[in-house]
Amino acid sequence: DDSFDEDCDYLFKAVLIGDSAVGKSNLLSRFAKNEFRLDSKPTIGVEFAYRNIKVGDKLIKAQIWDTAGQERFRAITSSYYRGALGALLVYDITRQNTFENVKKWLAELRQFGKPDMVVVLVGNKSDLGQKSREVSEEEGRNVAEKEGLCFMETSALENLNVEDAFLHMITKIHEITT
Ligand code: GDP
Ligand code: MG
Repeated sequence: DDSFDEDCDYLFKAVLIGDSAVGKSNLLSRFAKNEFRLDSKPTIGVEFAYRNIKVGDKLIKAQIWDTAGQERFRAITSSYYRGALGALLVYDITRQNTFENVKKWLAELRQFGKPDMVVVLVGNKSDLGQKSREVSEEEGRNVAEKEGLCFMETSALENLNVEDAFLHMITKIHEITT
């Protein structure tokens, strides 16, 4: 976006990680464009999206990277994490194994990411919680506490907490880096 130089005080890169089909791309399209897709295309076809956010009197341009499907093949490389100041680590509250894999994603983050990266653990698909929940909110919160992460349950479908999760990460990055 060529308006960056004139308008923005800071540019922050953040990444989305987590197992396939947990809702990463839909969280991003919600946040960036307020859109949701019912089909399960592995990617929305973009590698990253931008949104400008005002924090105090500063304008921050958040550049959020999506995996574009590579997570299926565990083919996310170090360049994906390079320069990232934050991450949303997403699991699906209706699929226990996506929660178990949070450990693997954290190990990868710690291998490739900056040590002071702001990480928000996100349990997505909270709209399905009544019927199909396999991971309790407490389990999510406990892991987050133990690992020193922020925690939130979201629904990209119903647009619950999506804005909060991203804004929480972005304001925390702002606190740390400025
Ligand atoms: P990704 O592979 O992690 O990028 O996941 P997608 O964003 O492609 O979503 C995978 C599937 O889950 C799609 O069928 C979405 O419509 C669905 N999905 C994503 N977020 C939600 C949500 O919050 N609630 C429900 N019920 N379905 C969701
Ligand atoms: Mg995707």
